[in-house]
Amino acid sequence: MDYCKEMEVAKDFSSILDKEQILFNVPMNEHTSMQVGGKAKVIVLPSSIEQIKQVLERIYENNVPCYVMGKGTNLIVRDSGYDGILIMLSHNFSKTKICDNIITAQSGASIASISNLACRHSLSGLEFAAGIPGTVGGAVAMNAGAYDGEMKDVVIEATCINKEGEVFCLSLEELQFGYRTSKIQKQNFFVLEVNMELTPGIKNQISEKMKLLNNRRREKQPLNLPSSGSIFKRPEGYYAGKLIEDAGLKGYKIGGAQVSEKHCGFIVNTGTATATDVIELIEYIKRKVFDNSGVVLQQEVKILGG
Ligand SMILES: Cc1cc2nc3c(=O)[nH]c(=O)nc-3n(C[C@H](O)[C@H](O)[C@H](O)COP(=O)(O)OP(=O)(O)OC[C@H]3O[C@@H](n4cnc5c(N)ncnc54)[C@H](O)[C@@H]3O)c2cc1C
Repeated sequence: MDYCKEMEVAKDFSSILDKEQILFNVPMNEHTSMQVGGKAKVIVLPSSIEQIKQVLERIYENNVPCYVMGKGTNLIVRDSGYDGILIMLSHNFSKTKICDNIITAQSGASIASISNLACRHSLSGLEFAAGIPGTVGGAVAMNAGAYDGEMKDVVIEATCINKEGEVFCLSLEELQFGYRTSKIQKQNFFVLEVNMELTPGIKNQISEKMKLLNNRRREKQPLNLPSSGSIFKRPEGYYAGKLIEDAGLKGYKIGGAQVSEKHCGFIVNTGTATATDVIELIEYIKRKVFDNSGVVLQQEVKILGG
């Protein structure tokens, strides 16, 4: 990896972005919910589609690696860091608007705040997302879901951009949502803006449902410690947490990373975890669960870095 190239390209962004929108050598434990990981060489914080487009065109012309992120709630950056340009959309790219029962959100908007916005306007359909800590873009890319709701139930179309800087719109059908996946992930597109269609409902009932689901979360999930949510996808016919518990791994620790005592599908950072601890624990869990049950666990969480 050419150390200087990303830096050189990033310096060239000064004609596109303000100084405050370009960060160098950023510790990623400060920008991911697991609170581990090394430094990203360059982070850019664009605030418009035009800025994202120009940044991507420059990156593409110079052939340097880049990655898009939201709030880092499903992302672990290795301790060696990320030698590329990270485009972080959660900071400056989070405007929303409502027209009748359609909410339009820029991809950096928090999905939980969109769920609250919908409730304030007596719109039902996003109650499931009240406790999901990521962005709209991350939620669409991952087809995030909980308690029988998924993004695919509300998204009607998404404006996207590819690595060459071409902007286009994908319909619900074209987004090819599956369990915790979408065409966005498979093709490495970036989500820019999302239209979500909701159903008129009764405000009190919507907010009661959100409270109920959030209470259920608090009861079942270790929300007092840093984590990335569920580390593994749910294997068909099983629950990852139960398979992990049955393999005798409840509370199992590698360094500062621990299989949560409260919910075995979560790995928590007990305070001193490194990304290496977390990644080693993920691999250890996969081996032990396979030995014990024959089930191959697939990661939901994304790992970035060389
Ligand atoms: C305590 C806790 C509870 C959670 N509960 C749930 C849950 O109930 N259900 C659930 O599904 N998830 C859950 N998650 C995981 C996570 O919040 C979701 O996957 C969320 O949608 C990720 O959004 P993000 O902005 O943090 O994405 P990031 O972690 O920043 O990125 C995740 C992936 O999405 C991609 N991505 C991000 N933004 C974009 C974009 N604009 N365009 C294209 N790709 C993009 C990234 O490249 C990466 O591959 C939980 C996490 C935590 C910490």
